[in-house]
Amino acid sequence: DPRVRDIKTKIRVIPNFPKPGIMFQDITTLLLDPKAFKDTIDLFVERYKNRNISVVASIEARGFIFGPPIALAIGAKFVPLRKPRKLPGEVISEEYVLEYGKDCLEMHVGAVETGERALVVDDLVATGGTLSAAMNLLERAGAEVVECACVIELPDLKGRERLKGKPLFVLVESH
Ligand code: 5GP
Repeated sequence: DPRVRDIKTKIRVIPNFPKPGIMFQDITTLLLDPKAFKDTIDLFVERYKNRNISVVASIEARGFIFGPPIALAIGAKFVPLRKPRKLPGEVISEEYVLEYGKDCLEMHVGAVETGERALVVDDLVATGGTLSAAMNLLERAGAEVVECACVIELPDLKGRERLKGKPLFVLVESH
């Protein structure tokens, strides 16, 4: 798809951010191009519009850029998954391991009902820890995770293998 080629050119790579040795994939430059941003959303919408998905869940903060427009276009509800102590209501929490230390995602109790079909959206998958925690939250609430979708995959980090066999769809791979 020629749209994917164009999207890839709009992602800026910033070396040594946020620390030495990291090649940061910066999606803010993609957002500056209305055609490439719209193409990004359209590609996901084309894939998910007829899949009976009732909930799109995405991850603070960059997942919130891509999840809501997809949810609106496919007629699904949007559920934010947030870092600890941000959501005001009763939550369930899922810890996950980072390179150094731990992090945690939270979801409001009652946001998702048993039997719902969920799509998890984030900007990028690296080790897969974040997506895996997101999937656990949805499954604990009784939802079926249909697929995870990201704009960018760093395939060298093998995040795909941490997703318990769930399908992962990405637009762009970056090495
Ligand atoms: P993982 O849990 O798969 O190791 O890391 C994925 C999470 O870290 C995503 O929520 C993503 O937003 C963030 N992340 C890690 N590296 C990058 C990067 O190079 N660019 C962007 N945009 N996000 C990153």
